[in-house]
Order: sequence, then structure tokens, then C-alpha cells
Amino acid sequence: MRIPIVAGNWKMNTSVAEAISKVESMKGPLEKIEGVDKVICPPFVSLFPLSNLLSSSSIKLGAQNVYFEEKGAFTGEISPLMLKDLCTYVILGHSERRGYFGEDDELINLKVRAVVKAGLLPILCVGESGEEKKEGRTEEVVGRQLRMALREVSLQPGLVIAYEPIWAIGKGIAASPEKADDICGFIRRVLQELYGDEGKETRIQYGGSVTEDNISSFVREENIDGALVGGASLEVEEFPHIVQKVAEAKGLK
Ligand code: PEP
Repeated sequence: MRIPIVAGNWKMNTSVAEAISKVESMKGPLEKIEGVDKVICPPFVSLFPLSNLLSSSSIKLGAQNVYFEEKGAFTGEISPLMLKDLCTYVILGHSERRGYFGEDDELINLKVRAVVKAGLLPILCVGESGEEKKEGRTEEVVGRQLRMALREVSLQPGLVIAYEPIWAIGKGIAASPEKADDICGFIRRVLQELYGDEGKETRIQYGGSVTEDNISSFVREENIDGALVGGASLEVEEFPHIVQKVAEAKGLK
């Protein structure tokens, strides 16, 4: 049985003080929800104070990016070794990194390998643009992104894939649950092709304009094991509600 997982991607939002205050507000309600893995991905600068705050909590932390080298003259970069005492997960291949920072499949593969080598778990984002969707190329794009990012990567039991159609991110218009489930099913078949039957046990999230109003319809689908949540994860009441609804939809509460 795949344990559902909900991760909040705070992006470039919150000062350290705001991050602490949000986690202090969400901690109690989130910790009460059992059977769902809960992850908060704040900006780098908040990882250290939040790792202290959450040291004995069931809430895990994730970073939003990392460089692939372990150390050296890479001004401004953060290495997986610097993260491994502070967090459990690292978001990789997010469409904002692909789009604004020119990250391509080769670079994402180097990052996935570095993260795994350091003992961290990738939340690997894949997803098509609006144009690629219109051209009927969703499976081609998502399949390529997956195969390239996971090249020479052995199966990690905690690996998470986030299917995030770019046209649904931050737009307030989510994908239809049925269509998202189709693509998540396709992702599961690719994982099986890469890793055999064990690959099917990898958790797959949907991401793109998830809210407390639509989350249940996504996680009721067979192939969707949770969500990667952007905007709504900054809302201190809404994020725990989203996690709660995942627990209910999966029959855990
Ligand atoms: C994201 O950035 O990963 C995301 C899914 O954003 P939003 O929920 O705001 O669409």
C-alpha cells in the first residue's frame, strides 16, 4: 500500500520569521493527521530553523532546489551534503526551474543522482506545457522527462514523482481528475518499464492549482497518491485541511 504524501512548495515566499510563524500555526493540526506523509518545502534560509522546530515531528522538510556538486567554487549554490542534515526531500525539475532558469533534462538527471547519492529523496516534477498538450504530446514529453531524469538512477523506495501540467500551475485552473489520473497511470507504466513491478509502488502526486475544494476529487483516483501544493500550502488553515481531505479520501480517517 502506497502511503499518501502531500508536499507544500512555498516557492520564493516567507521571511524566516514568517516561515516559523506559519509552521507554528500548522504544526498541531498537521501532526494530528495520521497515515499521510506531510512535507513542507520552504526557502533554503528557513530550513535550519524549521529543522529545529520540527526535529521530533512527523512533518518532514524538503528543499526546492540543489546543485549537483558536493562542494567547491560554485558561488551561490547549495550542495546536497549541506541539505542532508536539514531535510528529507528535494523538489527537482519544477517547471519554474526548467522555464526561468533553463534547467534541462541532463541537468535534472545530474541533480537527481546527486540527491540520491546524499541519501535525500527527490520529488521529481514532470509535466507538459499548454502547447504540448494541444499538440497531443503529453505522454511523449512526460515520458522523456522521466526517462532522462532517472537515467542511471536505481529505484529509491521513497522517490516521489509529481505530475504537474505547466498550464495548471498557479492559474486557478486545475486539470480534470480523470485526465490527471490517466497521465499518472502512464507515469506508473513508465516506472514499471524502468524498474519492474517495484517501480509501480512509487508514489505519484498531482500538482497544479490544488485547493481544499478540489483535492478530494484528485486523490480518489487510483493512480494519484497525494499532491504537490503551491499557493494553498502557504495558507495556515487550508494546508492542514488539504492533508485531512487526503486522509479521508484514502479511507484513513
Ligand atoms: C507548484 O508550484 O508546484 C504548484 C503546484 O503550484 P500551485 O498549487 O500554486 O498551482
